[in-house]
Amino acid sequence: MTKKIIAVDVDEVLFPFIPEFTKYFNAIHGTSISQNDFVTYEFEKILGIPQDEVIKHMYGFTDAGHVGVEPLAEAQSAIATLSQSYELIVVTARNPRQADATNEWLDEFFPGAFSRKHFVGYSPVMINPVTKASVCQAHGSFALIDDSMTNLRECSAAGLQGVLFGNYSWNEAVELPPGITRCRDWSEVVTHFFDIADIEDANKRSNETECLFEDLIREFKDEGSL
Ligand SMILES: [Mg+2]
Repeated sequence: MTKKIIAVDVDEVLFPFIPEFTKYFNAIHGTSISQNDFVTYEFEKILGIPQDEVIKHMYGFTDAGHVGVEPLAEAQSAIATLSQSYELIVVTARNPRQADATNEWLDEFFPGAFSRKHFVGYSPVMINPVTKASVCQAHGSFALIDDSMTNLRECSAAGLQGVLFGNYSWNEAVELPPGITRCRDWSEVVTHFFDIADIEDANKRSNETECLFEDLIREFKDEGSL
């Protein structure tokens, strides 16, 4: 049976980007920026430097590799559990030039878990920017797990489902768009997708029962019993 496809973001969903990037940035600049300072995911505002410099630092950070960086809590077991019932793909806003370090890290902690990996790139610096929603649609994914409301709003508008991951200061939202559910951690994500599978199974069983009844009624009618 073909598995349904779920797209998974990398940074702040699998990989603790801000905690690790700020360590790197602080070491270079002698600053003491922490995750608590990130009330928005617009790094240039938090770091007080232009966007092109932010991008250079991000490339420098990934070029240094991710040795010793552990995934977010429960991510490994949750991905292993979900991959039994779903096909998982990576859809990240990391740039294709960050692919080597990212793949190396994903292969270390999530070996064989993702059938494909798409490096969409950070849209303001891409020549031909694409949305994660369009990548999900192009690759048959019905849902995206991501910490960015922007990405999930675009998924919702495209008729896709999504999980807004984490209770982060940059993704606070009173109302979520249609088809989007907030999950605070990976155990909630697993429960969410298995609830969807249960509902779909129940609907399938109910449809099968309905078809069976329709067949029986047709047979009785053919025999003249009805
Ligand atoms: Mg992210």
